[in-house]
Amino acid sequence: MSLTTGKCLCGEITVSIPTETLNTSDLITICHCKNCRQAGGSLESISIIIPESSVKINGQPKIYLDNNTDSGTPLQRAFCSNCGCPIYTATSNHPGIQVIKLGLFDEIPKPTMEGYCKSLPSWSKPIEGMKHFDASPSK
Ligand SMILES: [Zn+2]
Ligand SMILES: [Zn+2]
Repeated sequence: MSLTTGKCLCGEITVSIPTETLNTSDLITICHCKNCRQAGGSLESISIIIPESSVKINGQPKIYLDNNTDSGTPLQRAFCSNCGCPIYTATSNHPGIQVIKLGLFDEIPKPTMEGYCKSLPSWSKPIEGMKHFDASPSK
């Protein structure tokens, strides 16, 4: 099975995902929520929702517990403690699932859905052809 590997800016943390999963997943989501924006210092985040068992992470990400969530359940935000890159998120609402940040990878697969469209900036529009959700796609 071939793996595709992404890494944080400094390279201390690497994340490997089966290439086929990366290229065929229909669970690739853009998130416009404010928390993702703040955590990434960016317009949005893009991630793949994947079972933890099919991901291999090398290195020791640090976990920030994000308590300010819609669901009320704290969200683990894993990041590189050296360079600050977001690595993944996880929540006890979905045990065994990791949401891996695709900005770590050289090539980003086409997204299939967009969450928190209600938080889009006024000058931006949802992308055509995606499944759109006002808030979290997992509800
Ligand atoms: Zn790093
Ligand atoms: Zn988000």
